[in-house]
Amino acid sequence: MAKYKACIGLEMHCEISETNTKVFSSAENAYKEMPNTNVRPLDMGFPGTLPVVNKEAVRKALMASIILNCKQPEFMYFERKNYYYPDMPKNYQITQETKPIPVGIYGVLKFDCKGEEKSVRIDNLHLEEDAASLDHYSTYSTVDYNRAGVPLLELVTAPDFRSAEEAVSFLETMRSIYQYSGISEADSKKGQIRCDVNVSIMDEDLDDSDYSNFGTKVEIKNVNSFGGVRDAINYEIKRQTELKEDGKYDEMEQQTRRWDEESGTTIYMRSKVDAIDYKYFVEPNIPKYKISKEWIEQIRKDIPELPSERLERYMNEYNLSPYDAKNLIKEKAVSDYFDECIALGTDPKSASNWITTRILGYINKENVTIDEIYIRPNMLKDIIDMINSTQISSKQAKDIFYKALEDKKDPKTLVKELGMEQIADDTELRNIITSILDENEENIMKYKEGRTNVLDYFVGQVMRATRGKANPSMASSILKEEIEKR
Ligand code: ADP
Ligand code: MG
Repeated sequence: MAKYKACIGLEMHCEISETNTKVFSSAENAYKEMPNTNVRPLDMGFPGTLPVVNKEAVRKALMASIILNCKQPEFMYFERKNYYYPDMPKNYQITQETKPIPVGIYGVLKFDCKGEEKSVRIDNLHLEEDAASLDHYSTYSTVDYNRAGVPLLELVTAPDFRSAEEAVSFLETMRSIYQYSGISEADSKKGQIRCDVNVSIMDEDLDDSDYSNFGTKVEIKNVNSFGGVRDAINYEIKRQTELKEDGKYDEMEQQTRRWDEESGTTIYMRSKVDAIDYKYFVEPNIPKYKISKEWIEQIRKDIPELPSERLERYMNEYNLSPYDAKNLIKEKAVSDYFDECIALGTDPKSASNWITTRILGYINKENVTIDEIYIRPNMLKDIIDMINSTQISSKQAKDIFYKALEDKKDPKTLVKELGMEQIADDTELRNIITSILDENEENIMKYKEGRTNVLDYFVGQVMRATRGKANPSMASSILKEEIEKR
């Protein structure tokens, strides 16, 4: 039994990617390869420029607030967080502190962690502008202002996670919520998700609902991947446990560290004892404005089907197992593909089987997305239909599936070209079978004497005669009928 338990709180930053323009300027909200090609004077903090609030970004932020069961504000304000750093040429970031009220406070979200239902309290959710991105080289650094001003949602949880697995399961749930609700692509590869991770430990037998029992927290800044979050938490728990064992934990200062991917360790950056005072004040260039109840209700109605709702639909309407349903909803693109198959009239169970085994297997192996593979939902439907109508066997279907992917050829065309069509025509099979039986008097006798395994021999003969194209179950039942007649 562990002697200590961990308390973990997350600050999850996610760029809102689905708006036309940045949050306060008219620059496009789009990822651009070429640095500094998507920048307006406002993003550079030029004098005389004024911010204009992007309504769609506010709408999406409020949508996230509603999904997370937060309380929404009556009035919207923004604030200035003053600091000097090359990633923010205005020398302040327009953001929202918890007072006045940001886009959401005091929510709660249930999520699944390895089959167990967990719940986390949301402390607050706020909308702010992203900073520029910095790249550091051996003797110089570069700044790319393309990212400056991209709408950013920051979600702050209570310290309710007790393990790295719980924290990562929560992040995965959030990522899919953002994707399904059309708030963000939430792609960590594009740097759209970044996390600050807060970790402390306490004695196992202490009451973890009482904050006075909490240990001193360590904040780990800017972890860019979920794997990084997991490893950083586990490393930090181990490090703090060692300090505890050495009697040094209680004298540890509240501090900020960073995750070093290469060494797999957290590295001390600064003490939080004399934390920076950002001198927040209400942003004077954005008047406070009222958020009407009607608008909130409209946004609530406009929330698209969320992953948890799709899961229910898959299990209740299509009778899929929880395991398959979860596999299908994990990625929105995969779930959309499945829904498209259903809309075309494909049998849900067969579609689910093909997608969760062969398609997911293939895209994981080839490291491509489901949108990139050649077989579209209508082609998958054709393959499944050809099996159901016994035009091809399941073994042939499998071959066709891979050949279609590789040769980028329509499965129906391939079946024709390869002469793969199964012989499932009664008269045709019966003729073949009759001539085989005519030459096998001896084996018919054996069968009639009770050696039923002779039937396998006959099926084998039919297969040989048809070069594998006969439908085996049809062949076997016609064989039985014809032997009976003799
Ligand atoms: P700060 O003022 O340093 O930003 P906050 O109180 O706003 O601190 O909390 C920031 C994050 O730290 C939140 O996610 C919160 O859950 C987490 N946190 C606060 N105290 C602790 C603690 N003792 N152990 C672990 N996480 C904590
Ligand atoms: Mg903070």
